[in-house]
Amino acid sequence: MHPSTRAARTPGGPDPTFGGLVPPLHPATSYVRDADGGYPGGHSYSRDQNPTGDPAEAVLADLEGGTEALLFGSGMAAATALLDALPAGTLVVAPTHMYWTMRLWLQRETDAGRLRTAFVANDDLAAWAEALTAPGPLAVWLETPSNPMGLVTDLAAVAELAHRAGAVVIADNTTATPVHTRPIEHGVDVVFHSATKQLNGHGDVLAGALVTARSDDLWARVHDQRAYRGAVLGPFEAWLLQRGLRTLYLRVPRSAASALALAEAVQGHRALTEVIYPGLPDHPGHAVAARQMHDGFGLLLSIRLAGGEPAARRVLRRLELFADATSLGGPESLAEHRSRIEGAGTPVPDDLLRLAVGLEHPDDLVADLRAALDAEVGRG
Ligand code: PLP
Repeated sequence: MHPSTRAARTPGGPDPTFGGLVPPLHPATSYVRDADGGYPGGHSYSRDQNPTGDPAEAVLADLEGGTEALLFGSGMAAATALLDALPAGTLVVAPTHMYWTMRLWLQRETDAGRLRTAFVANDDLAAWAEALTAPGPLAVWLETPSNPMGLVTDLAAVAELAHRAGAVVIADNTTATPVHTRPIEHGVDVVFHSATKQLNGHGDVLAGALVTARSDDLWARVHDQRAYRGAVLGPFEAWLLQRGLRTLYLRVPRSAASALALAEAVQGHRALTEVIYPGLPDHPGHAVAARQMHDGFGLLLSIRLAGGEPAARRVLRRLELFADATSLGGPESLAEHRSRIEGAGTPVPDDLLRLAVGLEHPDDLVADLRAALDAEVGRG
């Protein structure tokens, strides 16, 4: 069956109690023992495992081609639980351009002496190879296409280098989703998601997810981390997430097609110096993206303004369909002046606006962006 068929249906079929076609919501925190002290329903206490999360975890593990998935209360909760499960002193080799809060956290852990970090150019395989010659233990963190610079990393090539060096390979698949890319097929060991974004898709759930290629010791430690921290996703959010996943394969290609339409429509516009979108044939990572992405190139595109930061802020104010708000992956399109949000030390240029494309009609989005850019040219 095609993954979109599997995503649309409840795993395990109708609810066995009433035959409901959507999974039930279980708010209970505690589950009754049998006479032998066992748990007949397989659940004991919802900090360990929450039955409302089970269907979403099963669907995610399936869609990513992994053996198991775990849901967390946010993307950052998932990422930090995973990295805290690595041996102390692990060298994390990560891309220069990556989700900014994640990079700040890695820096903080490095300053505290718990982890070591090496940041390398996202698309420079020689730099990844060089960084991976360091003494272990080693881990690789990947993010492709990167947020917000749209840089592409060759997952299979870096995974091969990493495995030769004995490193565990983790990929942040938030901006691609399993619709576009299944990192485990390219050799990645653990896939990470901010499920707050397109996996849920409605802008109303904060959630994170990890999917593992194999149920090994690291995975057992990640499970423990979730329980010790109480970082499990709550039942209502887990229920909404499984509902969002049912339409993933409709929403993701739609946003990607609109993002491509926007990129093509404004490429070469006089108000811009650059349109950054891996779906454009002249993007430096296009060939690799075309190999490892399917059904589109994601919902994020960035534009750089010829008039610098003041122009970026003016265009942001003029946009009517793109809300000036952070995040990505909901039904509404958003725009953000990233360098201001990321603050001191960010590698994102201050003339850049990030557009996170939602589900509106592409013609309306193109008209809105064109009008905001045309007004910029009119100023000159
Ligand atoms: N990774 C990427 C690529 C993101 O865009 C985000 C959030 O914007 C995160 C991770 C963090 O996820 P969360 O906000 O759900 O903690």
